[in-house]
Amino acid sequence: MSRLPISKRALPSSSSGSSSSENGQDQGPAQKRVRKDPETVRPQAAATVIGGRRAPVAATRAPISKPVRSAGAATVAVAPSRGVLKQSIASTTARGVNVRQTAAPPATKAGGGVVVKRNKWDLKAKVSDMEDKLRNYQTKVKSANQENEVLKGTMVQSQSKVTEMQRELLAQRKQISEYEEKLQAMSGVQAELEQVCSEKSTLEKELSNLEVKYKVMETLQNSQETELQTLKMKLSVQESTLARVQTTLRDTEEEVRTLKETVAEQKDELHAGEMERRRLHNSIQELKGNIRVFCRVRPTVDGGISKHIQLPSSDDKTITLAKTEESHTGKTADTQKNYNFSFDRVFGPQASQQEVFEEISLLVQSALDGYNVCCFAYGQTGSGKTYTMEGDEVDVTRGVIPRAVQQIFKAAEKLGSQGWEFNFTASFVEIYNETLRDLLYTGKASKRPEHEVRKLTNNDVTITNLTYEKVSNEDHVLGLIALANQNRSTAQTAQNDRSSRSHSVFQLDIEGVNAGRDIKCKSTLCLVDLAGSERMLKSQSQGERFKEMTAINGSLSNLGIVITALANKESYVPYRNSKLTYLLQGCLGGNSKTLMFVNIAPEQDSFGETLNSLRFASKVNDCVIGTASANRK
Ligand code: ADP
Ligand code: MG
Repeated sequence: MSRLPISKRALPSSSSGSSSSENGQDQGPAQKRVRKDPETVRPQAAATVIGGRRAPVAATRAPISKPVRSAGAATVAVAPSRGVLKQSIASTTARGVNVRQTAAPPATKAGGGVVVKRNKWDLKAKVSDMEDKLRNYQTKVKSANQENEVLKGTMVQSQSKVTEMQRELLAQRKQISEYEEKLQAMSGVQAELEQVCSEKSTLEKELSNLEVKYKVMETLQNSQETELQTLKMKLSVQESTLARVQTTLRDTEEEVRTLKETVAEQKDELHAGEMERRRLHNSIQELKGNIRVFCRVRPTVDGGISKHIQLPSSDDKTITLAKTEESHTGKTADTQKNYNFSFDRVFGPQASQQEVFEEISLLVQSALDGYNVCCFAYGQTGSGKTYTMEGDEVDVTRGVIPRAVQQIFKAAEKLGSQGWEFNFTASFVEIYNETLRDLLYTGKASKRPEHEVRKLTNNDVTITNLTYEKVSNEDHVLGLIALANQNRSTAQTAQNDRSSRSHSVFQLDIEGVNAGRDIKCKSTLCLVDLAGSERMLKSQSQGERFKEMTAINGSLSNLGIVITALANKESYVPYRNSKLTYLLQGCLGGNSKTLMFVNIAPEQDSFGETLNSLRFASKVNDCVIGTASANRK
């Protein structure tokens, strides 16, 4: 190892610090750093001492704290040796100075060094100087060697420390990487842990839910167990009840069987009773006469009492029409002429619709029993025919048709329990000027068909193109009656007062079947509102009115003729002489029951017409139509 680089560096810096200003400048910042930040400067000082080649190693060691301290120790080891060197030089120099000062004035060298000028001849002195110098150098060399040895030791120490530190570094790096790996593993574990934690909390929640549920279930179970116990008890009670009930049921079944037998017997009895009722009912009707005439007097418009109509309070079958004839001369007293009539029943102006209907309800019952029933309202216009047959819509003032319909459906329902089933067919026709018009027609007016009365081979009468509507309840029929009225009022507006000059015929065909007893019956209920019976003076009626009058008079008088012929059992009955009698021939005659209302107006000026009506009605009343028989098959 060369000593030169160390002495070269060490010497100029100590003996002639100012001679190398560059070095001084280089060291300057290092010294400054020492003052400012001793820790970072120390390794550089060490580098300076150890040598240029080691400097980078020191630099890399800088961040590590331990090696820095050991470098500091190296610096301390060097410093005293430098100080020794300087002192020895200084003392040598001082001695030299003292020697020279005695001989010659010392010359001042740049940098502070003192050089003693010797005389050329003073060789001894020069030799002594040289010896001094030599000693000096020897001392320097010695101290340099010492220093070198110290440094060598330090360096060896340092190198071993470096090796140690490198090992340590490696170990630490290894440890760091281990730690890093562990850390990585730990981070994975942490994520897992977090997941597990969340799972745990979820599970905890679930657990608590389940616990709650479990508690509820427990309570439920408890209550159900209690319930079960109760049910078991109830069951045992009910089982014993069931046993009792079964015994009772057997008894009851036996009883029911007996009762069924009784019911069957009683049904037979009932049927026999019903048949007997029909027979007796019919007998009564026959005794009353198969044609009956009721007279009904309309109340006066002002509510006053009619003078010429007298109704004896003792009976309800007679009516007297009194006519007072004034004496022509005025000398004799006024004469009064009475016209007495008797009918099956006379209804005064106070008679209600209900009272009137009660009388004919027996006939309506006959219609269900299989007898043809015909009911007419005869009288002059305004005498109350329509009021009697149809009445007003209000319950109390409803007329014969709606009441009859109501009774028929009610009675049919009752008979249903005895095994009867009924089919009803309704039709409503108007006869005007011997022409038929369907009052249930709903099509276009322009397409109204023409109608003809036809007699079928079984003697049934039918009208071509007429609406025959199957009806099953009262409301249905009432709807049809309303439709008929609408149809009539339409014709009425086109032709003034037409309804009073036409007959309207409501027909209800009834077909009953008692399948259990194999009985059928068939009948027709005819309710007729006849045209006004008033007669006009020939001079008053011309053209269309004349035709109308002839038609009305013709059909009404033919009705009288037909009834008379039937009463006299004539071989020829002129049914075909008018549309009305032709149409009604099934309902008149043989097996029919006929009722005629003669409606009369109480006013004085209607006297003539009233008399005519009463005469016509009593003529009909005198007829006895042959014994009626039910249409049985
Ligand atoms: P017709 O049909 O014979 O021409 P209506 O039945 O139209 O006569 O009767 C004429 C008027 O007299 C109607 O306003 C009717 O309400 C009324 N009327 C008829 N009979 C009675 C009666 N018994 N009670 C009350 N008002 C009646
Ligand atoms: Mg009328």
